[in-house]
Amino acid sequence: MTVILSVDVEDWAQSTIDPTLPIYPRAQRSTEHLLDLVAAQRRTLTCFVLGLFAEKFPQTVRRMVREGHEVASHGYGHINVNEQSPEQFREDVRRSKGQLEDLAGAPILGYRAPCFSLGRAGDWALEVLADEGFVYDSSIFPSPTYRFGRFDWPASPVRARLASGRTLVEFPAATLRWAGRVLPVAGGGYHRLLPWSAIRWAVRRSLAANEVFTLYCHPYEFDPDEFKHLPFALPLSTRLHQGLGRAGFERKFTRLMNAFPTSTARELLQAKPWPEFVVPLRGE
Ligand SMILES: [Zn+2]
Repeated sequence: MTVILSVDVEDWAQSTIDPTLPIYPRAQRSTEHLLDLVAAQRRTLTCFVLGLFAEKFPQTVRRMVREGHEVASHGYGHINVNEQSPEQFREDVRRSKGQLEDLAGAPILGYRAPCFSLGRAGDWALEVLADEGFVYDSSIFPSPTYRFGRFDWPASPVRARLASGRTLVEFPAATLRWAGRVLPVAGGGYHRLLPWSAIRWAVRRSLAANEVFTLYCHPYEFDPDEFKHLPFALPLSTRLHQGLGRAGFERKFTRLMNAFPTSTARELLQAKPWPEFVVPLRGE
């Protein structure tokens, strides 16, 4: 049983508000801060790096590699997969993979979609990933309560067999079956707002059922002061929804990484033969 500490390395405003915004230097500072924090605990992360970030701050990606973290792809421009054509998606992931491979000097094995939006795209998206040489994906949130959640997918890692016959390992975002519901407990508001005791309970329970707990977070969640320094106005509702709980996040994340064994996704690929799952056809 192990936790994958995964980070989507991106800028808050560009990924959340408007994809045409630049990647602000604050995104790099928060990422470097997270790398310092994790180095102090001698843990390794799976970093799904956005192409736009890697382009602007290649030295931070090189640091990830140097310090033993896994570098994987978060695509290039942070456009939801279900809003891209298959051709645009292929172009986006190919560009990001090539660029990260140049920086890392090694093959990039994994992909995570912006906002886990792959769950709402057709299965062509998984075919494109296999086609482009990805070995695993971590873009499926098998919870109906998540915005782009997919309901017909197992909660633990599988070797997904696609219609073409090709396979990809899938590390789905962590969920928890509780009171007749499947809760998306992998990250986000759950980890920012719940007390540590509740998070620890959820991780233990999810691990017992699913073997692997794929956690996700973002560098900006470690930056409680970001909203005081934004270069544009932000509605109060967004400020509350996105900012609440950032202040206590770092302490809880540190406790979590010390309370559970952790692995990178890459390490788990060969850990065992993950059960095969034939992806149900959905058209599109
Ligand atoms: Zn993202």
